[in-house]
Parts: sequence; structure tokens; C-alpha cells
Amino acid sequence: MNAYEIIQKKRRGIKLTKDEIAYMVNGYVSDEIPDYQMSAFLMAVCFQSLDDDETAALTLSMIKSGRTYNIHSDVGGICIDKHSTGGVGDKATLVVAPICAACGVYIPKMSGRGLGHTGGTIDKLESIPGFRTNITHEQFVKIVRETGFSVMSQTGDIVPADKKIYALRDLTATVDSIPLICSSIMSKKLAIGADGIVLDVKVGSGAFMKNTQDARSLAQSMLGLAQKFKRKAVAVLTDMDKPLGRAVGNAIEVQEACDVLKGKAKGDLLTVSLSLASHVLMLAGMGSAESCTAQAQRVIESGRAFECLERSVTLQGGNAQALTKYSLMGKPADTYVVTSTRTGYINAIDAERTGLAALALGAGRKRKNDPVDHSAGIKFLRQYGDYVSEGEEIAILYTSSKTDMEQIGAEFEQTVSISPSRPERRPVVIEEITS
Ligand code: URA
Repeated sequence: MNAYEIIQKKRRGIKLTKDEIAYMVNGYVSDEIPDYQMSAFLMAVCFQSLDDDETAALTLSMIKSGRTYNIHSDVGGICIDKHSTGGVGDKATLVVAPICAACGVYIPKMSGRGLGHTGGTIDKLESIPGFRTNITHEQFVKIVRETGFSVMSQTGDIVPADKKIYALRDLTATVDSIPLICSSIMSKKLAIGADGIVLDVKVGSGAFMKNTQDARSLAQSMLGLAQKFKRKAVAVLTDMDKPLGRAVGNAIEVQEACDVLKGKAKGDLLTVSLSLASHVLMLAGMGSAESCTAQAQRVIESGRAFECLERSVTLQGGNAQALTKYSLMGKPADTYVVTSTRTGYINAIDAERTGLAALALGAGRKRKNDPVDHSAGIKFLRQYGDYVSEGEEIAILYTSSKTDMEQIGAEFEQTVSISPSRPERRPVVIEEITS
């Protein structure tokens, strides 16, 4: 067996065996297969795809490249994981995890950092002064047991193959392949050993999957893998044509999530969070869809969900007062108000371009180890479907980094389209797929 023959076989569209796939993964992790051969292999996969057996074999080889956990037995109860395929303004984890924890389900969440136009939960949480995400597995388990949830950064020992392969995919235009995304996400989820997984599959300009059909294929592929590995799973397709909620950044996204948990904010973020939370509770056997949604709503109304967030933040070294006194998260050095250039209805806010504007403000990172400006971001004062007059304020840009605010503001204006007629409302929760 050699890498050249395996690449050629896949390039010709011939199905690979489990051993061939394991050979590529193991060889790459151990540095026996160089970047140029792995890149050629990944490109062949992008063009020829992988069937379900090959995707399962790739996932298994990736899982075996590192350490696995049985979080259920470590925590001592039903654990449900929640994962988003990545979007702009997606802070739903910060709402869903405390809600579910307050309802009695354990949510052990390993998260990543943002890259490119999409944000990462870890960067958002690090806006809270003192908050530590690089905790040990033992600390993670202890916090989950005590508060119901914890969010820690992905450790290097889980699926090291993905770390190495993803970095290469990012440089070789081989990210947006359904079997590669599926095995990358699911290997990390399966390695943790949660009993069930709720997948938030984003669809639209700001997501990997630009249309519902592709998102459905990705969702079905991930659900198929979960079934093969005997885990319960459900996928929810949600809109990412426009950013989720009113804030895109880090500190301002944490603040928006807090507002939702305090019952002070409604809208798309609440809708998506309730849908995901209700699926988490259903997977944990807490009742019907109606009853689970009602339980989720009750813990927001009673304040118990917010208290869970405060407790978890405190145990992770964070200053929980910042969740109420937002100025403790630090203030941006510069602000810039964007006004509407026309009168009419906002009929589009391009998610990808908004993410790129937030990145230019310093809220994200272009390369893996770039620093992040936690105070940077974009807050929408007006939203999709709103009627605005020429000159009316529609958004505020924030930054503490050295950036050309006027230039970014001018570019950002292009992401908001105005039309004379009221646009149709597309539901933010597009579809729920259970198998
Ligand atoms: N997120 C991942 O973890 N992997 C992918 O391939 C895409 C999104």
C-alpha cells in the first residue's frame, strides 16, 4: 500500500478500503505522508466524495488518532452535546447550555476558536474577565457535575488528526466537502462520548452550506454516522443568510446571550436557542417537544438558566458580575455609527460580509494564532424586515484595534440591502431532521 496509489484510486472515483483510509490518516499524523500528498488526497475527496462506509472509516481513523473519553461515566449521568457547523453572530451555545443545565441535563461542551468570518464560543467566553477555557478534563467534569455545564477549549489530545488535516484543508481550499466536514465534526463529538448530539446545521451565505439541499445532505451524513456509532442525534437546519441576533463580535455577543437568558430579548436568537434546547431535552428523555420547549421557557422566566451561567462562569474563574455589569468586559476605544443611505425595508443583511467586517474590526482572526479584540464587533440597531429612513442609524461598529473605521463602515453598508417592499420572512428554524 502506498499514498500515491490511494490518491490515484480516489482521483478515479474508486471506493477505498478501511485500511487504505487508515493508512492515509495514520501516515499523515506520523509525518510519513507529506503535506503535498495529503493535499492531493483531500482534493481528490473534494471532487470524488466518499460514500457512507468511507466516511465512517475516515471518522474512526481520526478518532483513533487520539484519546477518547466516556463523559457519561465521568460525569455520572446523561450528557448531551450541542454543535453548530459555524456561523456569524452564533452565540446559541451560551443560551442553550445554561437552559438545559437548569432543566437537569448535563452539557459538557468542548468548543473551538473562531477562524475567518465565523466566530468561536471560546473567544466569546474569554471576553469575561478571568474566564479560563484551558481547564483540565478533571476540572471540566467537576464543573459539569456542579453546575450542569462547562465549556472548555478543545484539547490537543482529542482527534489530533483533525487538527493537522483541518489546518491543511484551510490552506488548500478543501474545507467545503461534505464527507470531510462530517468526519471532522463527528470525530470530535464521538471521541468525547456524550449520549446524544444536537447538531445545528447552518444554511446560507455565512455558512459552509450555502443552500438547504447541501445542508440537508451534511445533516443526514452526520446523523448516519451517529447511528453507526450508536449515539442518539438530531439535526436542526437554521438560517445563516443573515447573522444570528443583534450582535456580531465577542463581548457584545456574550451580552446579547445574557439578555436572552434574563428574558429581556426576544427574536431569532431566542427562537433558535429554544428549538435546540428542546431537542437536547428530548434526546435526554425529558418529554415531548411541547413539554421540553415549555421547560426551557420556564427556566428563563424563573431566572434559573441565568443563575446556571453565573455559577459556571464563576467556577471557571470568570467574574460573573460582568454578566450584569457589561462595562466590566471592557469598552471599545472607537465606535462608528452606520446610517441608512436609503428609505425602505431592510431585505438582506449578508452574513458572510458582516462576518468579514467584524473580522476587519478585530473581532476574529485571519490566521490560527492571531490575537482577538474582544471589544470589537457590530451591533445592529435595526434588523431584517425593519422599515428605515434615509439617515437613520442602523448599526454601530466597535473596535479597540488600529483599523480604518470609515473604510470598514463603507464596506459594511454594502451588506445591508434596502428595498421599497416588505421582504418575506423566512423562518430562522428551517427544518428539523431526526434520522
Ligand atoms: N467545523 C469543523 O470542526 N470541521 C469542519 O470541517 C468544518 C467545520
